[in-house]
Amino acid sequence: MLLILITFAYNASLEEKKSNLQNSKYKLLANEMQEEVAAMILSKQKATLAMAMSLANDEKLVQDIFNKNIEEDYYKKLISDYREYTQYKNIWVHIIDKDLNSIYKSWSNIKHENIASMRPDLVSVSKSKKPSYGCSAGLYDLSIKAVIPLFKDDVFIGIIEVISHFNSISKQLKKFDTDSVVVLKKGYSEKLKYPFTATFINSEYYVANFDAPSEILKYLEKKGVQNYFNNSYKVEDDYLVVSHELKTLNMESLGYYIMFKNRESVSNLDLDFLMFKWFTFTIIIIMSIAIIVSSYLFYANRREKKYYKNIIDSSTNIVVINDKNTTIDVNRVFFKYFDGYKSLKEFKREYACICDFFVIEDGCVQKSMDGQHWVDYLEQNSTRHNKVKIKYHEKEYYFSVAVSLISVEENHYSVVLADITEQERYRIELEYLTVTDPLTGIKNRRYFNQRLSEEISKSKRYGDQLSIIMCDVDFFKKVNDVHGHIVGDNVLIEYSKLISSLIRDVDIFCRIGGEEFMIILPYTNKKNAEVIAEKLRIEVKNSNKILPITMSFGVTQYVDGEDAEFLYKRVDDALYKAKEAGRDKVVVC
Ligand code: GH3
Ligand code: MG
Ligand code: MG
Repeated sequence: MLLILITFAYNASLEEKKSNLQNSKYKLLANEMQEEVAAMILSKQKATLAMAMSLANDEKLVQDIFNKNIEEDYYKKLISDYREYTQYKNIWVHIIDKDLNSIYKSWSNIKHENIASMRPDLVSVSKSKKPSYGCSAGLYDLSIKAVIPLFKDDVFIGIIEVISHFNSISKQLKKFDTDSVVVLKKGYSEKLKYPFTATFINSEYYVANFDAPSEILKYLEKKGVQNYFNNSYKVEDDYLVVSHELKTLNMESLGYYIMFKNRESVSNLDLDFLMFKWFTFTIIIIMSIAIIVSSYLFYANRREKKYYKNIIDSSTNIVVINDKNTTIDVNRVFFKYFDGYKSLKEFKREYACICDFFVIEDGCVQKSMDGQHWVDYLEQNSTRHNKVKIKYHEKEYYFSVAVSLISVEENHYSVVLADITEQERYRIELEYLTVTDPLTGIKNRRYFNQRLSEEISKSKRYGDQLSIIMCDVDFFKKVNDVHGHIVGDNVLIEYSKLISSLIRDVDIFCRIGGEEFMIILPYTNKKNAEVIAEKLRIEVKNSNKILPITMSFGVTQYVDGEDAEFLYKRVDDALYKAKEAGRDKVVVC
């Protein structure tokens, strides 16, 4: 007896467990279905938005609205392209002008003079000038809408509305043994003037998808469709019924996406879960690809220009499209530098070309490079590192610059300018430090060696005369010994300044050692160099800066064919002779 009782109790608890498990599986599946249908609706909304955005970039559309002349065949062809290239077979396009007059509807010939009173959502887009998307109920249907404001030269000129429907979603779910009924709430149904599917439940609730099975519609009529307006699920009769709430652009409840799944097909729930997940995931991927492909096709076929505009706008460098004489287009970064202008039009009122801002500086490309146009020069020297210096509003920038021909027929070039101001400043600073003597601020021995070789080469090539002067402070050791190193340093600083002030700009004055200096004198023969050395000797002797000092000078002229080393040795000998002769002397050899 006890055994029988225990067996009953065990069976009862097993049944309960089984039913609990079954219920939790239904709950899980219902949640999954709600989430996935929400993701499919969102994905379709985004696809619709992408289509609207690609249309909003269509220059022809902007021009048509601007001219108040809609060429209907053009939009019919666009829509048929969408049908062909995407999985969306029922797309509607609505064009509205800036005063909210409906000027073109792809699905109807009815034109309303002004739709402001009927479409508060469009009024709000025309005010906010921001895109919006979501589910919406109108005069014709419960649908998915994307609304984008249109601009020409930053001026609001109208609105493009793209409308898609729930049929592609219900069709996809059907493949997974799930029937759909997309139902609009009563209050909204009443506003439908031209119900597109002409299907109603209890003649009060509009059904927005074409493929709702009649037996399901009858079932809903019998049960009362409003009983499913709950964003939840029910397990009743043969069905698992799952409702997902649809909301307007303003988050008001609009209706429900009701899914019916036969309980028989829920038998192998785990496998179904997996299939459902995999299936909806695939749909989302396909939808995303469709968005990309449709956008690409539109860009590629009709808006190559806009496509390239997006590409150049994404660059962090300045990109300028030029023919040889004028600027055709610029990217967004251009205005970061030329911030006094809001558009290319404004810029072009004052300047034809970015080259009008090129600064003449050694090593930088100029408007004209030895008579050659700068664009030609850059194109032919594309493998070199070319740079330009640009001055705008007292600010100076360095850019590395590259040019390439992008259209042979139109003779268009792209000019890409990458900001290297910081690197260039750093390089200049480094260059300055490596050739400058830190004590006196005049050039150092490294610079002397470089420049002497250069001047010798020039002299060899052009036959110009070239002389050098070497000088050395007399008895400088004594200065240090008597007055200390700091005074010694100041003497070097002050007398370097003095000599710098007495020589020409073309002369190159360097400190090559402790108290030894060199002066390179281009275009100068040794007679004139001697005159200069003599002048320096007297000025040093008479100036009495900090301390009275004298200096000895060796002078020589470059002899064609000799090298820098030999020239150096000869001037050193001359200085040695000046020291030997009693110091405070100039010796020429
Ligand atoms: P001479 O007339 O033969 O040239 O005699 P001098 O004493 O000038 O020549 P010497 O080569 O014997 O001594 C050069 C001195 O210069 C030795 C060194 O202490 C000093 N000196 C070298 N560089 C510096 C420097 O940067 N600062 C100071 N204060 N002294 C320096
Ligand atoms: Mg000395
Ligand atoms: Mg010396």
